[in-house]
Amino acid sequence: MWATSIMVYRPYRATYHDMCRFHSEDYIDFLKRVTPLNVQTFTKSLTHFNVGEDCPVFDGMFDFCSMYTGASLEGAVKLNNKHCDIAINWSGGLHHAKKFEASGFCYVNDIVIAILELLKYHQRVLYIDIDIHHGDGVQEAFYLTDRVMTVSFHKHGNLFFPGTGDMYEIGADSGRYYSVNVPLKEGIDDSTYMSVFKPVIQSVMEFYQPTCVVLQCGADSLGSDRLGCFNLSVKGHGECVQVVKEYGLPMLVLGGGGYTKRNVARCWTFETSVLLNEQISNEIPYNEYLEYFAPDFSLHPDISTKQENLNTKQYLDYIRQTTHENLKNLIAAPSVQMHDVAPDLLSLENTEEPDPDVRMSEEDMDKRVEPANEFYDGEKDNDKENEGFLDV
Ligand SMILES: [Zn+2]
Repeated sequence: MWATSIMVYRPYRATYHDMCRFHSEDYIDFLKRVTPLNVQTFTKSLTHFNVGEDCPVFDGMFDFCSMYTGASLEGAVKLNNKHCDIAINWSGGLHHAKKFEASGFCYVNDIVIAILELLKYHQRVLYIDIDIHHGDGVQEAFYLTDRVMTVSFHKHGNLFFPGTGDMYEIGADSGRYYSVNVPLKEGIDDSTYMSVFKPVIQSVMEFYQPTCVVLQCGADSLGSDRLGCFNLSVKGHGECVQVVKEYGLPMLVLGGGGYTKRNVARCWTFETSVLLNEQISNEIPYNEYLEYFAPDFSLHPDISTKQENLNTKQYLDYIRQTTHENLKNLIAAPSVQMHDVAPDLLSLENTEEPDPDVRMSEEDMDKRVEPANEFYDGEKDNDKENEGFLDV
């Protein structure tokens, strides 16, 4: 074990231009203008951009998008500049958002925007998604490229949202074999999950040799989730984080889904400790939300359910084998030509680390937020981008 320190930042806020690196201008324009008060005047747009039902309009919606997206983006910039080894944004990880529309509670795809930033410095970015839902928005954005490999472990079948992500979705064109899907059935527990997660990640690392990793840690794969049907414990979920961390690559760690809030808090707290190599007590210390953790007030209560594990050994063997066969088709670690590097999205002029023992005033904290007027010299759309795929 070695000393690891954590710095907490008030994040950069993503601008309209930042969001338009992936999303269409008319969609972001709509997100910026619509409010609960004027929503009636946007009837047509609501259907067009899939906003209303699963993705409701709420007060401060654009601000919310700007904050969680800015934090992921700033994490990517800090990794690119080697200001940290691991950047965490538990408010990010909104993996369903598409170029032209919202989907499954996700409005702006902070993951795609952060990966685009990482690609300025990294030849091969690996995206791993352990949310119970398929990481469809990220997969779609990078479906045609070998510069990003997307690997998603999720529940699939019986019309479970979003319905995509069976193991035959492997990518296309230059991206063929660079999308990996591990469709699972309900009730999967820690040991069964690990029996597929570990070997798949190991093959991915061997065959792809990424230079950095983005890990989406959706906590709806935990047992007792209000929407989920998996049976992972907080420790089991955290073991995925540990396994990925042990490869020692720069990591952007993001949140995602999670609908039994007390367990989401437990999970991401534990995973923060895993990323810091810190042991933390099972007893939750006094805090103003303590009553949410009744009756046990512990970090690791039993959250398993009686849900039967429908993932048979034969089924998992089949998944492991198919995934391995697909990965063998990769030309190991393709030597991607580096493009001319576009200017950084954010400038990190003031990068001096403050003394961690001195508490900063909010004013000082705010000074650490990069100005919102940074100009981004965007690339022009091409045909592939117009379909929601990125040409990178
Ligand atoms: Zn989810």
